[in-house]
Amino acid sequence: MRRDVFGEEHSLFRDQCRRFVEKEVEPRVAEWNARGSSDRETWRKAGEAGLLGACAPEEYGGAGADFRYDAIVMEEWARVRAHAMMVSLHSDICMPYLVAYGSEEQKRRWLPGAIRGDVLLGICMTEPAAGSDLAGIQTRAIRRGDDFVLSGSKTFISNGQIGDLFIVVAKTDPGADPPHRGISLLLVEATSPGFVRGRKLDKIGLVGQDTSEIFFEDCRVPAENLLGQEGRGFYLLMEKLQQERLCIAVASMASCRRALEDTLAYVKERRAFGQPIARFQNTQFKLAEFATEVEIGQAFVDQLLAAHVRGDDAVAEVSMAKWWTTDLQKRLTSACLQLFGGQGFMRETPISTDYCDAAVQSIYAGTNEIMKLIIARKLGLG
Ligand SMILES: Cc1cc2nc3c(=O)[nH]c(=O)nc-3n(C[C@H](O)[C@H](O)[C@H](O)COP(=O)(O)OP(=O)(O)OC[C@H]3O[C@@H](n4cnc5c(N)ncnc54)[C@H](O)[C@@H]3O)c2cc1C
Repeated sequence: MRRDVFGEEHSLFRDQCRRFVEKEVEPRVAEWNARGSSDRETWRKAGEAGLLGACAPEEYGGAGADFRYDAIVMEEWARVRAHAMMVSLHSDICMPYLVAYGSEEQKRRWLPGAIRGDVLLGICMTEPAAGSDLAGIQTRAIRRGDDFVLSGSKTFISNGQIGDLFIVVAKTDPGADPPHRGISLLLVEATSPGFVRGRKLDKIGLVGQDTSEIFFEDCRVPAENLLGQEGRGFYLLMEKLQQERLCIAVASMASCRRALEDTLAYVKERRAFGQPIARFQNTQFKLAEFATEVEIGQAFVDQLLAAHVRGDDAVAEVSMAKWWTTDLQKRLTSACLQLFGGQGFMRETPISTDYCDAAVQSIYAGTNEIMKLIIARKLGLG
């Protein structure tokens, strides 16, 4: 179906983005997956092409565009399975913190580099003993003169090996009651003394991403790197979660479409019992059902994109989309893999990586169980 959420200008931008992705991104995906990391050169080229931080203000080098442009970037990257290069983490999850809460000095210092693709961004929330329960983090940032001294461990950090600047969630008031009132955000450069990159973690999916441990060993961070007000970190994080979760839903639908497209092509070619497997009613019903769900999911996500661009508060609805689209992605990739038969189980067949890559979608950016808690609260259930 034609997607009304995009206008003519968006379509032109998509064409430009797709040309870039086909030339500069798609040919590198296999190399990134083999090595477990993307490369800086492609980040810089994406920056040069105006594909990073399209929504950031023009005065810092952005295009001041609306979020639909970044959604197009996410969709085009997902279409070629370039999960190694987390453009949405950089442009739509981390950068908005700098834009919204950064001081003028912080913005001038880091935004132009981030938009050019020179300064790669990451966010350190999760710890070995605290993921969903963010208020339970143990990382501390204690003020000593003009610095904060940061100590603690983070894990599962995307861009962990390649990143240059991290938004670190830490307790500046470990005794605060309730605990979330003691949380602040700090901008920490990877070159800071005491910033230590740990292992690049071995994953079953998203194998091209450098998901890592990060340690802070009495890491000294200048006090002027505090992002937003001290003690307000938890609230700032909550304010930005709508966009983070919408990013997952957008990419999830793009991944579903690609998996479905490839499966439709395969079942028309593959023959069994003297006919293409597309002729079997099971194949037809399965794919008809998923094609229907993909249209339903896309319509919902597009409606949320429009709401988000308008500035609506759609936290509950975005939480619905996050759990539902990622659940669909898991079901769809599993069913499509089955239709590929033994070939679907081979790493060389992209549906096998689609299946593995889908698994994390219901875990990060808030687990799907947490999404349901948010929705339940909105329904007045607790
Ligand atoms: C590939 C990858 C990339 C990531 N990138 C980043 C990153 O860049 N930065 C970052 O900070 N983090 C990142 N994460 C971490 C991710 O956000 C967390 O894994 C996620 O929030 C879940 O936390 P957890 O792993 O501690 O699971 P837990 O919180 O221990 O949850 C375990 C299970 O318990 C369930 N559960 C927990 N609480 C409740 C509850 N109240 N009610 C019902 N069920 C509940 C969960 O839903 C889940 O099923 C990444 C993770 C992965 C796998």
